[in-house]
Amino acid sequence: MIDARLRATNPTAGTVTHAMPEGHTIHRVAEDHNKWFAGQMLKASSPQGRFADGAKKLNGKLLYRVHAHGKHLFYEWGDSTLHIHLGLYGKFRRHKTPPPEPRGAVRLRVIGEDRAFDLNGPTACELLSKAEFQKLRSRLGEDPLRDDADPEIAWQKISRSRSAIGQLLLNQSVIAGVGNVYRAEILFLLGLHPSVKGNELNRREFDDIWELTVRLLKIGKRYNKIIITNPIDVGKPRSKMNSSERLLIYKKPHCTVCETAVHVWQLASRKIYSCPVCQPERA
Ligand SMILES: [Zn+2]
Repeated sequence: MIDARLRATNPTAGTVTHAMPEGHTIHRVAEDHNKWFAGQMLKASSPQGRFADGAKKLNGKLLYRVHAHGKHLFYEWGDSTLHIHLGLYGKFRRHKTPPPEPRGAVRLRVIGEDRAFDLNGPTACELLSKAEFQKLRSRLGEDPLRDDADPEIAWQKISRSRSAIGQLLLNQSVIAGVGNVYRAEILFLLGLHPSVKGNELNRREFDDIWELTVRLLKIGKRYNKIIITNPIDVGKPRSKMNSSERLLIYKKPHCTVCETAVHVWQLASRKIYSCPVCQPERA
């Protein structure tokens, strides 16, 4: 089913604009920052001043490791845990050491041996105690990109819920890391209407959602982009696809499989895109 639909498509219409980073981007940052900064005594500062106290505590201390859970980044640094959530406007800027003059409101500047980064505009940039870290982690759902993810827990939550699957997929306490683009694409690939309720899904359908989510997020992390389409259908490798070739339903005016006009409405306060033919409503 999944492969048939992936194969039957050759999208050309529609454009992609900037959206909140989803889990693949955050895991990619964690991987890159581990490679570039872990194991070093780092310089930390807050050119803007809003994180001056925190940066002072981190400055000159050893960064042990960086890991991600959903859209949250955690830096085990000295005897603190630095928590970063980019939100809609947060942005990392990479530099070679020494970095240039700070641009804009740089909340946190980190300088390592060869590389540096600036962080502007995050929703969260804070130091957490062990208890605060545990509390935050316990609020987060299963993250398909983490090795310790347990799909059974996600299934228990979804199969007992009367909320729409389109809503549940955005709920970070159910599955952590899926955002607005992935939810639309995953439901489209599986032929599921976004309004189908969690407790109307059977185990097989949930397993398909989970497996597809793991697979697509891994591709996204590897290429640092959300890529849903199949290279065979597009006729070029994923690394060469342009932005209009990577998605199947999100922000597309017409279904890339059957050419029906795509339905757009608000679900969980975000726009959802679905094909009325390929994703029929359940009676
Ligand atoms: Zn369709």
